[in-house]
Amino acid sequence: MSVPADRFFHVIDPRTFDRQLLDELCEITSRVRTLAKSPEGARLLQMLLPDRRAMLYFTQPSTRTFLSFNNACHVLGIRTSEIRDPAISSEVKGESFADSIRTFSSYVDVIVMRTPEPGRAAEAARLMDMIPRPVPIINAGSGQDQHPTQALLDIYTLERSLEGRGGIDGKVIGLMGDLRRGRTVRSLCHLMRNYADVRLVFIAPESFAMEDDIKEYLWVHGIPFTETIDLASTLPELDAIYVTRMQSEWDTEGESARVDLGRFSIGPAQLSLMKPDAIIMHPLPRGGEIDPAVDHDPRAVYWRQERNGMWMRVAILLKIFRRDDQLLSLDLGDFTAPGETVA
Ligand code: ASP
Repeated sequence: MSVPADRFFHVIDPRTFDRQLLDELCEITSRVRTLAKSPEGARLLQMLLPDRRAMLYFTQPSTRTFLSFNNACHVLGIRTSEIRDPAISSEVKGESFADSIRTFSSYVDVIVMRTPEPGRAAEAARLMDMIPRPVPIINAGSGQDQHPTQALLDIYTLERSLEGRGGIDGKVIGLMGDLRRGRTVRSLCHLMRNYADVRLVFIAPESFAMEDDIKEYLWVHGIPFTETIDLASTLPELDAIYVTRMQSEWDTEGESARVDLGRFSIGPAQLSLMKPDAIIMHPLPRGGEIDPAVDHDPRAVYWRQERNGMWMRVAILLKIFRRDDQLLSLDLGDFTAPGETVA
């Protein structure tokens, strides 16, 4: 069986997403959030995919992505199994990656995978496309390379947080921190080609500047960007700042520790330089780059962003298994408490 090319199946590379698909996923996410608030809505969601099973194959550390996918599956009634340590799978007996993935696909209907190596999820998807019973592969983080589902939840958070000001279109978005080794910012830059008149500002220590392949992608797609090490003079023009931590797990000789993080951090002093309606995002986990005192500021949306991750992952699973139409045709008024507005 081969999968028709136009069908939403594997989730591997953010470059393949278009605006229509992004808008649809955001709409599904909002509807799921609304439904989940009422007991009847939550029960309805549970009934959407009880016939499906998912494999969570995470051989690189994860808290949020693992838990949010696991819980997204449970929201939909999908049963899950997991491997979080290759040392307890047959890979230690010498089984190839391809044979391991094919084996998982014998038992489940979707494989969500995170690996320390780049390109592994893409390799698994290519393998699926060659076997008689392919299952979708979802890339939940591939080395320093891509993290497409994080970028989707980031888009959702940006769109909804900036809703009153026309969404992402026309905004100035700062990306700060270890841009060279951060996969979340790479994937987010790829999705930006779907939005009009966006301008990006990269704020990073010189040795952790954004990689050339992303800059070239932005050039090719006509997305203007600038690079700076001066946060204070940049903050007043930003509509959103996406802060990231030093990716010190990739250090070869303690290079993260040599960065003066204070110059790439948000605290009360930086808050005072920001627009009153700008937003602060972070894929988490954070190091010292956002002072916990900032959490209480209404512009800090990273905890909401984290929670949006679960709802966006529900939306992705619904779309993959083509149960989204069922959700989109529902009258949400039937599930909304009196006085509550539909998100
Ligand atoms: N949780 C995100 C990731 O897996 C961000 C980070 O770890 O800094 O890439």
